[in-house]
Amino acid sequence: MIILALDALDAKMVEKYGCRNLMQVEYGQTDLSEFELERTVVLWASFLTGKNMEAEIPIKTQWEFTLKPEETFLKFFETYKALDVPAFSLKQENHKEERTLLKRYFDEEVSVEEYDEVVWRNHEENKRDLFNALGRFDLVMGYFNLADAIGHLSFGIPAKMETVYRELEELAGEVKASTEDVVLIISDHGMKPVGRYGDHSKNGFYSFNRRMGLNLPRITEFFEIIRGLA
Ligand SMILES: [Zn+2]
Repeated sequence: MIILALDALDAKMVEKYGCRNLMQVEYGQTDLSEFELERTVVLWASFLTGKNMEAEIPIKTQWEFTLKPEETFLKFFETYKALDVPAFSLKQENHKEERTLLKRYFDEEVSVEEYDEVVWRNHEENKRDLFNALGRFDLVMGYFNLADAIGHLSFGIPAKMETVYRELEELAGEVKASTEDVVLIISDHGMKPVGRYGDHSKNGFYSFNRRMGLNLPRITEFFEIIRGLA
């Protein structure tokens, strides 16, 4: 099985840009109504464990929060590779650098372009890691924060977001062409514009390369679905 974990991939944006590879055979929105806030680490931890983790993960230390494999659906697979997955195998240094640049942007010390460059560099690194892992494990879960990281500073700039969605569409196409296996594409939350910036929204997205018959699934429901597919 392959899971493409695409941070902030927004159900409405996937449709707007007609991203057929991201939509796959079955796609739709996820139900995040049980969550008070759409926090990245909380939502990925809830996806991994099948439990609402909102109360357990403090805001202040959320990025350091790490689950054990036996707490997650990874335990259903004999071999797995979880690449840069929040709450599990996050590349702390890469994300720390992005968060620092984000802060420095608002302190007017760096430009959007300098921030974007690091985000794209980390994206390319994760792509290389993903394609090195495909076909070598029972489960490969690859995480990409491109839509989230670029979106936070530029969601209100259509040309830039179209480039991001085209890139993720191409990535999905390459992954799907490489396998006969089950492919799940999922986001933690969607995104909404705030002027030129973007903020998290409840428009989460999922898709499968086969008919599953899901209808507005909660993000915590995927734990059992993945167990059934393992
Ligand atoms: Zn997120």
